[in-house]
Amino acid sequence: MLDVRTIREHPELVKHAVEVKGIDLDVDALVALDTEVRRLRHEVDNAMGERKRRSKEFGRADEATRERLRAEQADFDVRLGATKDEHAARAAELQDLLLQVPGIPWDQAPVGAGEAENVVIKKVGTPPSFDFEPLDHVTLLEERGWAEFARARNVSGERAYALRGDAVLLERAVLSYALDLLVTRSFTPISVPSLVREAALVGTGMFPKGREETYELPADDLFLAGTGEVALVGLHAGEILDKAQLPLLYAGISPCFRREIGSAGRDVRGLIRVHQFEKVEQFVVCEADDAESEKWHQALLDCAEQLLLDLDLAYEVVECSTGDMGLGKFRMNDINTWFPSLESYRETHSCSTLHDWQARRASLRYRDTDGTIKHAHTLNNTAAATPRLLVALLENHQNADRTVTVPPVLRPYLQGREVL
Ligand code: AMP
Repeated sequence: MLDVRTIREHPELVKHAVEVKGIDLDVDALVALDTEVRRLRHEVDNAMGERKRRSKEFGRADEATRERLRAEQADFDVRLGATKDEHAARAAELQDLLLQVPGIPWDQAPVGAGEAENVVIKKVGTPPSFDFEPLDHVTLLEERGWAEFARARNVSGERAYALRGDAVLLERAVLSYALDLLVTRSFTPISVPSLVREAALVGTGMFPKGREETYELPADDLFLAGTGEVALVGLHAGEILDKAQLPLLYAGISPCFRREIGSAGRDVRGLIRVHQFEKVEQFVVCEADDAESEKWHQALLDCAEQLLLDLDLAYEVVECSTGDMGLGKFRMNDINTWFPSLESYRETHSCSTLHDWQARRASLRYRDTDGTIKHAHTLNNTAAATPRLLVALLENHQNADRTVTVPPVLRPYLQGREVL
């Protein structure tokens, strides 16, 4: 969400953001509605003042005058009630529109409608070359007895899976390693709920637009979050932190649930795109300073890159285009990791800076040293999302005899085993 004053005073900035992000929003209509809401507010305030004046007059009046004033007052109250109702209705409409206003994107982000306009800014490592016919992860998992696909689909439908044996241990090892790496960088590990209320999804910016991507549990008025970010923002929603508490650095771990409605028919085989997965998420709340945000953006990217380097996986870093970055983001860098069976890089990490767009929605503020209250900046990046990262490990580190070499950093989590 943007400050309504910014929209009022710089509608051209917002129009530009709407255009380059491909958002369907009439900024002029929003500004006109804002003017109307303020006019109605003014009318209600004036009428309330007038009501007070009338009440005093009533107190001083004789009985005959009171009779007249009473009749006039009834009329007045009906009109005041109608104005109040109209104000409330228009203010709610305005609030709905404000939730659709995009964050202003970084002026150096590639302008474009979507993924096709993303720009690769860095490539690290070399994809492996095999002197045998490598298997894709589904075949490898099945040959090693490490996964159930058909049986899991009987239980849970499409995109379901069950991991077994060493695949589970390897998956746990990656998550533990990611958590430990973040702890060495002063992040606080935190396990967060995936069952969340609607307000938390609105606060993060997942709703209203992403509603259909989210599983709903209507009997309990709850939803299943697609990312730990929802609860991580929600934990401090409505709070005023002290500047001395910033930055808050969290390594949040949670199961994630996605309906993948927008990806129907894509990646239906295997573990690349599933409805339920585990994620260690990097999350930062920092002071509202662009340079500070930029510093943390680089730090979050660096953590993810370190993890991929440690896992000996080739990857590329992408500058995401305005149309790909999503409603609230100022800047987004995806990291795509090499998947041998796809013969291409696929997204494994997504690093985002939101400036104060998310904090405004969630009312996440802090008291600055001079006493002023400000909305904080928030940032997030994946540290490790499995099973997608597990796929990368299995496919890149497979051997001719169908074993998988464990990267040295994961061996302490697997009783020192070098191969599985
Ligand atoms: P996001 O929170 O959408 O930025 O996603 C973060 C990371 O989670 C992605 O880069 C993927 O590694 C992983 N991910 C997202 N959606 C899925 C999915 N449906 N199945 C498996 N992994 C996913």
